[in-house]
Amino acid sequence: MGATNLPPMQYRLQFRRYRLPFRSAMRTAHGPWTEREGLLVRLEDAAGGVGYGEAAPIPWFGSETVDSAGSACRELGEAVDDERLGALPRELGCLRNALAAARPREKAFAPVHPHLAVAALLPAGRAVLGLIAAKAEAGFRVFKWKVGVGDPADELALLDDVCAALPSGAKLRLDANGAWDRRQAERWLARCADRPVEFVEQPAFAGPTAGRPSATEMRKVDDLLRGLAGDFPTPIALDESVASDADVERWLAMDWQGVWVIKPSLLGDVATTLAGLAKARATVVFSSALETRLGAQAALRVAFGWQGEPRALGFGVWPLFADGRFDGPYAGPFLHWEDVNRINPEAVWNALS
Ligand code: MG
Repeated sequence: MGATNLPPMQYRLQFRRYRLPFRSAMRTAHGPWTEREGLLVRLEDAAGGVGYGEAAPIPWFGSETVDSAGSACRELGEAVDDERLGALPRELGCLRNALAAARPREKAFAPVHPHLAVAALLPAGRAVLGLIAAKAEAGFRVFKWKVGVGDPADELALLDDVCAALPSGAKLRLDANGAWDRRQAERWLARCADRPVEFVEQPAFAGPTAGRPSATEMRKVDDLLRGLAGDFPTPIALDESVASDADVERWLAMDWQGVWVIKPSLLGDVATTLAGLAKARATVVFSSALETRLGAQAALRVAFGWQGEPRALGFGVWPLFADGRFDGPYAGPFLHWEDVNRINPEAVWNALS
């Protein structure tokens, strides 16, 4: 890696695109999601310092596509400097995220916490009941149940059985992924009062459109969510609603007092956006964007560096990929910074060659 061969620029940029099948398909509002596409970037500075980053977009969350991130890298070319990287459009949030993470740095990172709790992921529907005991025995005390997948009334009929199966003192998160209308959301929220529900995540979102909902649709959903938050005691968490820096800004401007589910990998300017949330004393739950262990390390660095009240991480996703070399640490009830820190980005990069 001789720095002498480098042209007199600040960085040499390389990128590698990946397509990694999941071990099993994810269910999304847009149908099954079978493989993760994204790209890794590598920046090398004139002194030979090297850094890596990952762009793991989720287009139906409103981020860019892998194609557009790839074209932007091709357009940048191999020789780049801070000015050109900084001039990338805001719409390329995931790529900007990757490039920021890839700036070679010397400063050691000091985590605020040595370890953080992880929420156990529970499957949708009746299958949930068979899994709680094993997860509880493994040490989990925060559980996340996917709802909004089957018939809302059938799912609601299961809620008491789910609550009864939880170990004492445990908390349940419900994630509807935006599936409900106002009436369904109200029925659920009424039932959640007096039950050990930590929050209901994204009860509603703009309809299943191909792209990002229009500003008018968005405003309607914003109003609905704010109304629900005001009418029921169970906190509401925003996830799909806060998928970009601009979304977070919008909700900060509305003085959102509920929970924020933040996928750091989707934010183009993590530092600024997190500073805004910290200033507002926001309750933040850090969550995976189903990125590889390379991107997850960068996202978890944000979570471990967060000064606010720690909430269980939404990173109970591993093992995730058919090729285990791309998985993060096995998802037990706690993630230790030591294990996250041990992830070697270069090995992930090399695994794609
Ligand atoms: Mg969610």
